[in-house]
Amino acid sequence: MKELGYYNGTIGELDAMTVPMNDRACWFGDGVYEAHMCRNYRIFTLDEHVDRLFSSADMLRIRVPMSKDELKNLLCSLVRKMDTGDLSVYYQVTRGSGKRNHAFPKGSANLWITLTPREMNLSKEPVGLITAEDTRFLHCNIKTLNLIPSVMANQQAQEAGCYECVLYRPGGRVTECSHSNVHILKNGVFYTAPRDNLILPGITRAHLIAACQRLGIPVKEEPFTVEELKAADEIFTSSSTRLCARACRVDGQNAGMRSPELFNALHDALTEEYFAATDA
Ligand code: PLP
Repeated sequence: MKELGYYNGTIGELDAMTVPMNDRACWFGDGVYEAHMCRNYRIFTLDEHVDRLFSSADMLRIRVPMSKDELKNLLCSLVRKMDTGDLSVYYQVTRGSGKRNHAFPKGSANLWITLTPREMNLSKEPVGLITAEDTRFLHCNIKTLNLIPSVMANQQAQEAGCYECVLYRPGGRVTECSHSNVHILKNGVFYTAPRDNLILPGITRAHLIAACQRLGIPVKEEPFTVEELKAADEIFTSSSTRLCARACRVDGQNAGMRSPELFNALHDALTEEYFAATDA
């Protein structure tokens, strides 16, 4: 298949798939999701993403309609149906179906899966960032479908010709970006926002921290401000679809790009891990 859609057991070409209007995703964006990459028919970091899906679902009292192992087996079997093994793997679990009513519906949750051809972006070409106030809610540790503030922030970045929008809370504390985490290097130390309710605990972020530990780079999971970000030696984002994107500009001003050895060491460490885990 070229692009696969799956909905509660029905499988088809994505463009031809339809879903019931009364799925809670349509009324409330009431669900949780994961997105990550597959190369050579091998799904990268599958265990970690499935664990996070279940933990997001738990926090919202959504019952995923199968076990972790069943979901992993299903994803691996669907990937085998594809014309290419280089894919974006996306899945979401929504809180069942019913007429529009805020209270939880009866019946089980719905599972959606899409598989679309895509290759990991491993470019070292530096990107531009903008900054904007983080107007999201206070449960950013849950990977929910409610993404309007992130959509607005990302569109602002696109319109400024930039890759990402760095979000900050009143007072200037940097949280993360519209669809990635953000980190800085300063005087040889790796700084990243602490794991709290203001950021998504990124899987790539966790791999970066592990890579720092292997490389002997000190890690500080501490809040930092927009000013500190702009004055950092290196600034980079991380996400499952673009492991590390290095920034050379923030809000139109040159920034970062002053510690290439450390940035390259981290970028290379993650790239090697990705290739090693997904070799044919
Ligand atoms: N932060 C937000 C808001 C995201 O949407 C994402 C990815 O979608 C990330 C961080 C990065 O997380 P991960 O590395 O698990 O892809």
